[in-house]
Amino acid sequence: TTFEALGLDTRILQALAEEGYSSPTPIQAQSIPSVMEGRDLLGIAQTGTGKTAAFSLPILHRLAQQTGRPPRYGCRVLVLSPTRELASQIADSVRAYGRHLGLSTTVVFGGVGFGGQKSALARGVDILVATPGRLQDLIDQGAARLDHVTTLVLDEADQMLDKGFLPAIRRLLKAIPQQRQTLFFSATMPAEINKLAAEMLTDPVRVAV
Ligand code: AMP
Repeated sequence: TTFEALGLDTRILQALAEEGYSSPTPIQAQSIPSVMEGRDLLGIAQTGTGKTAAFSLPILHRLAQQTGRPPRYGCRVLVLSPTRELASQIADSVRAYGRHLGLSTTVVFGGVGFGGQKSALARGVDILVATPGRLQDLIDQGAARLDHVTTLVLDEADQMLDKGFLPAIRRLLKAIPQQRQTLFFSATMPAEINKLAAEMLTDPVRVAV
């Protein structure tokens, strides 16, 4: 299939052409239509399969169709990532795919000062990419709020487990509306990750590549 046939916003198609992407990868072809419809997704895929675009493109398409603005300190889409490197890569990809849409993307992670992250969040952002610990710190300081999140992405869930982040994720979930779209990605599905997926997802489409 083609990106055009998937019905993505023409401004996204233009960005993909500029990126040199000629056709969707298997996880993209299998995920994008369901995510565009608002379904939850369980994606079993490793890095390198194109999973970042598989969730980013339909999320950007949906944001582009909506008129809402993010509230101060808040975001509309939250992507949770286990490492600062991956979080930064995701934010770079989202900015590239969405460059013609006029949406805002911010990334927050630990190990650096709070100042820049707080001022970026204060205005509100369409898409926030975050590592769990730093996001909780920002919430505890009154610098971030998650009560307007409409779409949640959990990336590399099995890495989150390995890093001991599952309690942090369960705590963040309490601050996110239960009525939302959730996209859950993991390379492997050990029992604890299966349980977390069952807690987070409602009638998900399952895609394994
Ligand atoms: P990911 O699995 O999301 O980390 O993506 C792996 C690499 O594949 C990244 O460098 C992407 O830029 C690239 N990529 C993702 N989707 C496509 C596509 N449809 N065509 C060409 N390259 C792609």
